[in-house]
Amino acid sequence: MIAMDVQVGAATHPGLRRRVNEDSHLAEYPLFLVADGMGGHDAGAAASSAVVAEFRALVGQDSVGIDEMRAALARARAAVHRIGHEGRAAGTTLTGVAVTEVGGHGYWLTVNVGDSRTYRFADGELEQISVDHSVVQELIDAGELTGEAAGRDSRRNEITRAIGAGSGGEADFWLIAAEPGDRMLICSDGLSGEVPEDRISGILREVVDPQDAATRLVHEAMLHGGRDNITAVVVDAVRVAGQDDDAYDTAPAGGASYAEEDTRPRAAAGGDA
Ligand code: MG
Repeated sequence: MIAMDVQVGAATHPGLRRRVNEDSHLAEYPLFLVADGMGGHDAGAAASSAVVAEFRALVGQDSVGIDEMRAALARARAAVHRIGHEGRAAGTTLTGVAVTEVGGHGYWLTVNVGDSRTYRFADGELEQISVDHSVVQELIDAGELTGEAAGRDSRRNEITRAIGAGSGGEADFWLIAAEPGDRMLICSDGLSGEVPEDRISGILREVVDPQDAATRLVHEAMLHGGRDNITAVVVDAVRVAGQDDDAYDTAPAGGASYAEEDTRPRAAAGGDA
């Protein structure tokens, strides 16, 4: 059973300051993902594209289950590890949604490692679904920093989890009941770090076609400076299996916890703090 009918748009650009685009994305049913690579030379681009390649094997399925996501993530980690072992510090974020099916209902299965972001735009409201694995997010959680100040903080580019880059790469997952009209935005920090959320929300509200919306968002990030690589994937749920039945949201246990053994590449080599 096809869990959902979707319409999709995607756009990416190296931005105005960087020569190489180290972001990679996948925007083919049932997987909508963005990966933001890091590492010297071509290691970042190699890491993000290797991760996306592992998930591409699931394209064309009616839906994707969490066990398949975990298995693909393990293969992705191994692929990035091999890149790193060629003498380079390779790593990447990963965020996005897989369309999944639970008891005949269509769901968004959100995955996140790092500080790329997955948002849901529904009923005119933009909500960040993923929780950044970043130093500033930890400071916000501890009450030591406001969300507004975080955008200017010198540590804003330091992430606490990645696939590769010395991190265990453990992912958070969230299962969210999908509804027709849901618009998911998956993006790298070249968008979310550059364009205020109310502006992102305005574009998602105004621009109906998902491809036009993705293109417009990337363009907007360039108007705001384009200091990083920019990627936006926009997914609209047109029809959702079982959506008239009783649906519920769940947050699988262990999602937001930080394991003690996780290595966190804070101000590691390459940081711009
Ligand atoms: Mg970036």
